[in-house]
Amino acid sequence: WSKETVAVVTGGNKGIGFALVKRLAEMGLTVVLAARDKQKGEDAVKNIPAPHRVHFLLLDVSDPDSIKTFASSFKAKFGATLDILVNNAGVSFNELHQNSVNHAESVMKTNFYGPRLLIQELLPLFRRSSSSITRILNVSSRLGSLNKVRNEEMRRILEREELKEEEIEEMVKKFLRDVRNGMWKSEGWPMYWTDYAVSKLALNAYSKVLAKRYKTELMSVNCFCPGFTQTSMTKGKGTHTAHQAASLAATLALLPPHHLPTGKFFLLRNNNDF
Ligand code: NDP
Repeated sequence: WSKETVAVVTGGNKGIGFALVKRLAEMGLTVVLAARDKQKGEDAVKNIPAPHRVHFLLLDVSDPDSIKTFASSFKAKFGATLDILVNNAGVSFNELHQNSVNHAESVMKTNFYGPRLLIQELLPLFRRSSSSITRILNVSSRLGSLNKVRNEEMRRILEREELKEEEIEEMVKKFLRDVRNGMWKSEGWPMYWTDYAVSKLALNAYSKVLAKRYKTELMSVNCFCPGFTQTSMTKGKGTHTAHQAASLAATLALLPPHHLPTGKFFLLRNNNDF
């Protein structure tokens, strides 16, 4: 890895995203810290010990226009040199031991539609080189595991090797319809952190579809669940720090080519994994 290696981390202003930007910068990479708030993004860059090669770019992943502007700013500054994209930005409006589906639309926009559109917009900007593998790491959650889905037909569809992107889209639309109609429980969606779990379920499924699609094009697509991590999402609770989760994320993002899988889901369970 060198200063020529370019990584983008979304939601880079705090939590696991910020810790990951810092880690990659310490390792000497060029890092784009993407954040939806200009002030927060710029302050975050100031909190990274110099010297570093961290650049702030504005990005609200829930806003398609913002994603498009981000892609053109990236292109103007770096050209087609993207090596690593970490889709880290995410939201949950659930409390630790409470479930809420009131925010299902915006959770889906941020956690699933956002990363998907960002990947689509950035695809032409990935570095094409026969000597390196480009990488997408989607920060996901074990709450989005298939075994949380109680609807057997839905599980069967998602398990299929030949799963299509349109089927994932259909699933998300059905979920949002079921929420609007007050039927999400009877339709067998996950019972805990429901909207968040379905957003990550969709992200996991989409990652597998992409991994398959780009397998022969020197691109790896994996998911990483950081486990119960002390950040604002968990109100500071968790079995380990954002720094610990980010160290592992950096290791996964930078695996040497002969150890780099694609279409995998990595899970950090607790402190014993370090
Ligand atoms: P934080 O709440 O600390 O950080 C979330 C980050 O995402 C913030 O930078 C936030 O920006 C950003 N963000 C939220 N919405 C948007 C948006 N629309 N556009 C751009 N950025 C946005 O949470 P974590 O660090 O814990 O979460 C990071 C990832 O890890 C998430 O994807 C989360 O789902 C996942 N995860 C976390 C776990 C945990 O236990 N903490 C467990 C499993 C998965 P802002 O400051 O502006 O709000």
